Amino acid sequence: MSVDIVETNLDFDSLSERGYTDMIVIHHTGENDIDASAEQIHQWHKNRNPPWAGIGYHYVVMKGGKIERGRPEWAIGSHAYGENGHTIGIHLSGDFQQANPTPEQLDRCGALVADICDRYGIPIDRAHIVGHGELMATSCPGVNLQALLDDGTITGKAIYYYN
Ligand SMILES: [Zn+2]
Repeated sequence: MSVDIVETNLDFDSLSERGYTDMIVIHHTGENDIDASAEQIHQWHKNRNPPWAGIGYHYVVMKGGKIERGRPEWAIGSHAYGENGHTIGIHLSGDFQQANPTPEQLDRCGALVADICDRYGIPIDRAHIVGHGELMATSCPGVNLQALLDDGTITGKAIYYYN
C-alpha cells in the first residue's frame, strides 16, 4: 500500500532523530474550523515564544483529503508533550469541537495510519492509535473526532487499507 504525500519542503531549525515509534497521536486545529495547511501551521509554530524548530506534526490531512508533509517523519515531533520520543503526530485540519471531519479526511487519515503502522510494525488498535487528549489534559482532537476514534471508525478504515 502507499499513500500520496504532498512534499512541502519546509525549512526547519535543528531536529533530532526519533529512536523508535510505537504510537500515532491524532490532533485537530481548533482555531475556528479553518482548513490549515502545513505551511500555515509551520509559521504558527515557528512564531511561538520560544520558537519551535517548525511545524510539530508529521502530517497534515486537509479537508479535501490532501495529505501534506509536516516535520520529517524520522524527526522527533512537537505535538504531545512528554510523548514525542516514540510517537508520530497526524493533524486533521478543522475544529472538531464544533465541526466534523470530512469523509475525505477520514478516508486519507485511515490510509495514512495503515501505511505508518505497516512500516513500523505498529498494531492497529486503540492502544496504539490515540487522540491527543488521551495522553494529557487537552480538548484536542475535539469531541467529534475523538468520538470517531472511540467508536472504531478510524482504526476500522486503517484496517481496511492495511488488508
Ligand atoms: Zn493536539
